[in-house]
Amino acid sequence: MKKTILAFSRVPRSMLEPYVDKYDIVIMSPQLGDMDAQFESALPNAHGLIGGNRRLGEAELASAKNLEIISSISVGYDNYDLSYLDSRGIMLTNTPDVLNETTADLAFALILATARRIPELDAWTKDGNWSKTIDASHFGCDVHGKTLGIIGLGKIGEAIARRGRFGFGMNILYSGKTRKPRLEQELGARFVSQEQLLSESDFVCPVVPLTAETRNLIGQEELALIGAEGILINVSRGPVVDQDALIQALEEKTIRAAGLDVYVNEPLANSKLFKLKNAVTVPHIGSATNDTRNAMARRALDNLLMGLEGKRPLDLLNPQTRGRRRLA
Ligand code: NAP
Repeated sequence: MKKTILAFSRVPRSMLEPYVDKYDIVIMSPQLGDMDAQFESALPNAHGLIGGNRRLGEAELASAKNLEIISSISVGYDNYDLSYLDSRGIMLTNTPDVLNETTADLAFALILATARRIPELDAWTKDGNWSKTIDASHFGCDVHGKTLGIIGLGKIGEAIARRGRFGFGMNILYSGKTRKPRLEQELGARFVSQEQLLSESDFVCPVVPLTAETRNLIGQEELALIGAEGILINVSRGPVVDQDALIQALEEKTIRAAGLDVYVNEPLANSKLFKLKNAVTVPHIGSATNDTRNAMARRALDNLLMGLEGKRPLDLLNPQTRGRRRLA
């Protein structure tokens, strides 16, 4: 009997085609109607799921009697209930590494956009306001030579720090759980307490996974330490920052600006952030380039096929589940 693969978000068809003889492949698509209904109807037969941006916990997976593996097209895996998957013996994989540089590019775009007020002044120019030479009310702040503070100097944090150090001559501070002697040497990065990082950095980037520990890592007190000259950049996960406290700090200008890719609730709608000139908001586009999304899909497909073929997937997050699938 062929195993069934359910692709619940974009995987290029050309990538799946070589496997149609070996697997039954169900590809969900908005053109086929309601996505939730498509998911629910295909799930009971699925042995493998591949996709991203769908919260999958106990309630959503109750009917997935045959499920062996979920291959997430993402690095973050906060959309999944890992302990529930463990209890069912369902493997979970992610796609680290292939998006480090693209996500770091976006973080840097947000650093430059907030510092030099690019979206605000773009709108101002297009509104026909440029009638004489601009004055200091339109000035931004420098990026080169400033201090970049990375909370969580992991893979993406390192790629951001490299841009800062070698592209813009920035001083790099970092805080986190473990010291990184290699990066201290290569980037001159200094390991400091989170308080010191917040107080001394011109740009603060948390680049941590969303966990119980990192939820609201940046709240009112932390924003106060960043201070009126500081800029917060968030490309990690929305709930890492207390969004209400951030909005208040931006409204009261107790921090200079924020560049945001991620939000507490996504898609972001009717937010006070939309009214704030010192907030640069983009719609969770950290990895959103064709090259990178294709590379993520390829890696996720490799993980999925390895799991379905009884091999250890490259990016297995819960190795203890291998071969121990239990029925729902
Ligand atoms: P990573 O390599 O695992 O790095 C995460 C870093 O966070 C590590 O340095 C880790 O410290 C640190 N950390 C973990 N818990 C911490 C805590 N409680 N306090 C301080 N530091 C902590 O992960 P990555 O690949 O860089 O990705 C990071 C996150 O970015 C992902 O989990 C994902 O949510 C997000 N992301 C977003 C986008 C986007 O589209 N915007 C794209 C990709 C990823 P240790 O090194 O000491 O373990």
